[in-house]
Amino acid sequence: MSYFQKDIEFVKTVGPQRAAVLRKELEIHNVSDLLYHFPFRYVDRSKFYTIAQLNDDLPYVQIKGVITSLTAFGNKRTTRLQAVFKDESGSMDLVWFQGITWIRDSIKAGTSYVVFGKPALFNSKWSIIHPEIEEFEKFTAQPFKGFQPFYYSTEKSKVKGIDSKGIMRIMRMALKDLPPTIEETLSPQLIKTFNLMPRHDALIQIHFPENEDLLRKARFRLKFEELFYIQLKLLLNKQNRTATQNGRMFTEVGYLFNTFFNEHLPFELTQAQKRVLKEIRKDTISGKQMNRLLQGDVGSGKTVIALFAMLLALDNKQQACLMAPTEILAAQHFQTITSLLSSLPVNVELLTGSLPESKKKAVIERISSNETHILIGTHALIEDRVKFNDLGIVIIDEQHRFGVEQRAKLWMRQQPPHVLVMTATPIPRTLAMTLYGDLDVSIIDELPAGRKPIKTMHLFESSRLRVIGFMKEQIKLGRQIYIVFPLIEESEKLDLQNLMAGYDSIQRDFPLPEYFVSMVHGKMKAKDKEQEMERFVNGKTHIMIATTVIEVGVNVPNATVMIIENAERFGLSQLHQLRGRVGRGAEQSFCILMSGNKLSADARERLKTMVQTNDGFEIAGTDLKLRGPGDITGTQQSGLLNLKIAELAKDGAILEHARNAVINILNDDPLLNSEENKIFYRHLHQLREQPNWSKVS
Ligand code: ADP
Ligand code: MG
Repeated sequence: MSYFQKDIEFVKTVGPQRAAVLRKELEIHNVSDLLYHFPFRYVDRSKFYTIAQLNDDLPYVQIKGVITSLTAFGNKRTTRLQAVFKDESGSMDLVWFQGITWIRDSIKAGTSYVVFGKPALFNSKWSIIHPEIEEFEKFTAQPFKGFQPFYYSTEKSKVKGIDSKGIMRIMRMALKDLPPTIEETLSPQLIKTFNLMPRHDALIQIHFPENEDLLRKARFRLKFEELFYIQLKLLLNKQNRTATQNGRMFTEVGYLFNTFFNEHLPFELTQAQKRVLKEIRKDTISGKQMNRLLQGDVGSGKTVIALFAMLLALDNKQQACLMAPTEILAAQHFQTITSLLSSLPVNVELLTGSLPESKKKAVIERISSNETHILIGTHALIEDRVKFNDLGIVIIDEQHRFGVEQRAKLWMRQQPPHVLVMTATPIPRTLAMTLYGDLDVSIIDELPAGRKPIKTMHLFESSRLRVIGFMKEQIKLGRQIYIVFPLIEESEKLDLQNLMAGYDSIQRDFPLPEYFVSMVHGKMKAKDKEQEMERFVNGKTHIMIATTVIEVGVNVPNATVMIIENAERFGLSQLHQLRGRVGRGAEQSFCILMSGNKLSADARERLKTMVQTNDGFEIAGTDLKLRGPGDITGTQQSGLLNLKIAELAKDGAILEHARNAVINILNDDPLLNSEENKIFYRHLHQLREQPNWSKVS
């Protein structure tokens, strides 16, 4: 057994009790898990600030000085201990709300201390609340004075002594015993080509860096390693899939496809749509399973491509299904597709979670008996009990919410169906390569002809009357309007009140019987939601008031105005998605972003970007820049991707290198047979045994 597999319990100073906490709270089971629990921040403990140097931009500081007085304030309940702390440049306060007795008894006036913490300006005086504090003499006696690592821990683990410092101590123990000859995970060739720090050194330097340069090198090495193995896994998967000739053959372009194309298609396909259709055609007669990602900005016309692909399956006597992320969207796809196919002998059905059990059963019955040809729905579609008679193709719309696992489930069938994943948000290339690195990519880079770019403006409350007047004009022209309110979980109640207040005021400004208003939000019953949506889709109501439930996919070409309330609270890609609900017909469309007067710099930049451009790729770029690491479409947190050190927002270049390296290696040695490449299989195998890793598969 290698050192990495050693049970965490047997690392010096850990023992059974702490081991239990480490396992349960931090998923650290062995030395490998521990060493790959990387710091999220470092503080340079060799650097001192003076009180006069303090400013708002400093996160954590270390200051050397003397305590001149200690005073307790308040009564029993609300006591606070306040110390005046001075250095030669000035004076500041140190404040404690807890552990007061202990602090008071142990602190000595007149002695030199080193304090460490986050400074804040309070009553125009700097203070640090609950600083770390240590006598200067003891501080200087410590052996370690470089960068101090800070580790993620949980509330529960902190209580049990496994806080950042606790982890640091254990880490030091584990690293002290790290054998100098630990196994490499990257080949000598890679290490040489990319000038990578050896694994042994990287693991030491990432936790206790001697200086910034070594820290940078350690980081680079570990990021490379992480991204390399993700790509290796994805591309091996792809290689395995394409090596097997068990693909379904859609050789027949038959009655359904041709009749729909020649007689029912309400418009001419764009060049881009035609190209993508050809790519799909080619895939589905290649003898291999299709795994294709279809990227296209909102409104570029992906649905009809999906429909053609499904008709191909049907012409070849196989079934098709279309998965959407929300019930509203599934219902809408159902409506669009049934009406497009109304004069063709195709049975289309809808299956969503909110369908009554008896109806669900009936639908499932008709699927297995092959009575239903196209099934549309939410994740309910991939429940185990849904058994198709012969499923030829699966279309996944707006997929990044679905996750890679669900996709994998589809591949586990005997003769897996072809898979087409459609995504509208032009996702950044780095994310696409990491989430969908095993898929072939098609892009619709052209909007249907005759579309006028949406006019976007940013307005404040003071323009409300003008906005109402404008809405009335548009309604008079026969158009429809969306008004979207934010509904974000933390403040859900307040948001709901906001939405209701908005609804009331719209009803006052747009009274019956002249005007009709619909409302849709997440707290409504599915049935009511559907009904309200339907009234709007059918043009029975003029205004649709909604939360972001309508964010994706909804298609009402007659709607020309999108008003977004509190637009400053939305992310860029969300704003772009919402705006994409209008501009779907030939009429000029408008997007009005309403915001409060007080805006953060980021919010101002987001709104400005929206006003300036309609280009989804440009918006994705700005989005990535503004949101920075760890926050791409919420994916990193959602557990979809469990990156330990790489940051997709920043590490695009490393990712490209890692991916190209994998491609080259697999080109020369597809089975990783050579002596040099065996190392990869070994390490992949070890990674598979980790709980997190399976999520990537
Ligand atoms: P998305 O790519 O966002 O899913 P949709 O498939 O919903 O876009 O298409 C948006 C609108 O454009 C729909 O009303 C659709 O009927 C229409 N559309 C699609 N392709 C064309 C085309 N080639 N010419 C004209 N209109 C089109
Ligand atoms: Mg769509």
